[in-house]
Amino acid sequence: MSNVVKIDKWNPDLAVIAGAASILRDGGLVAFPTETVYGLGADGLGADAVKKIFAAKGRPRDNPLILHVCDKQETARLAKRDQRALDLMDKFWPGPLTLVLPLLENSCVPKEVTAGLSTVAIRMPDHPVALALIEATGHPLAAPSANRSGRPSPTDAWAVDFDLGEGVSMVLDAGSVDIGLESTVIDLTGEEVLLLRPGGLPAEKLEAFLGSPLKTPGADASKRSPGTRYRHYAPDLDVRIWDKKDALGALCVTPSESGFIGLTKPPVPFRRIIVFDSVQSYARGVFASFRDMESDDGCRCVIAEWPEPEGIGLALRDRIRRAASV
Ligand code: AMP
Ligand code: MG
Repeated sequence: MSNVVKIDKWNPDLAVIAGAASILRDGGLVAFPTETVYGLGADGLGADAVKKIFAAKGRPRDNPLILHVCDKQETARLAKRDQRALDLMDKFWPGPLTLVLPLLENSCVPKEVTAGLSTVAIRMPDHPVALALIEATGHPLAAPSANRSGRPSPTDAWAVDFDLGEGVSMVLDAGSVDIGLESTVIDLTGEEVLLLRPGGLPAEKLEAFLGSPLKTPGADASKRSPGTRYRHYAPDLDVRIWDKKDALGALCVTPSESGFIGLTKPPVPFRRIIVFDSVQSYARGVFASFRDMESDDGCRCVIAEWPEPEGIGLALRDRIRRAASV
């Protein structure tokens, strides 16, 4: 853990931030906390730096990255913004909302970030350490989640170190994150607003603000948002979904080799049981619970209770479903 540096979330040490920013300006990788999950940051305007993200994560090159900015104005030199985009930024930034916008012609964004698409995904994270780091670097940061591709997202510095180790020059450790799931991604390139990925900002809040329901891309999904094509979020365990209206026995698992996570205390003596007191804490804890059970050699399977698809529950369902799919 030699490259892990503790930093106070509310009062980040500016000398530490300056050191991290200088690594980023020199084209290196720094992992940092956001309110959603830990990100693996590189200078978002440097093609060579961005390539290092794909190498460190083992990420497919056709899966584009989100650019993280520290103020709304910064987006003006990256993307075309209509009034709807500006209104959404005013309402929900900083926060867990990523906007997919048309790229500016002659844009300074390298094709490595957008995977060659004519759009770019941008968000402003709600975390003092992330904002200070972006500001000190002076460029937007490209930052996917700081895990090996396909694995559960990291919600603390330990998980980043476990997955990436020396593959990242510095990990800024501000403790566990608040939300625990990635940002909500919406596409604003057409007349209708498309929900590309449910996430930390509940769809209901967006719909109330927009005054209309969000559309989903349907069959077009993997073309519009290549990231949705890949297996994701999966620990080295057999992940099974339990819908509370079904009998647990129907899952046919061996309780002594299985863990359980969810909102309902199960009537079965599983090897490990983690019951959360709210869907928010379930979302915050799901990835760390996967990693915790994975580190237990005797645990082969994890049963995840299927949450209601409301609020953060919609995003939590999406992550559990992808973790369970093989
Ligand atoms: P992550 O791997 O958690 O950083 O997720 C980034 C998500 O944003 C993936 O689902 C990407 O497919 C999506 N994304 C990034 N850039 C774009 C873009 N230009 N158009 C559509 N989706 C994007
Ligand atoms: Mg990810």
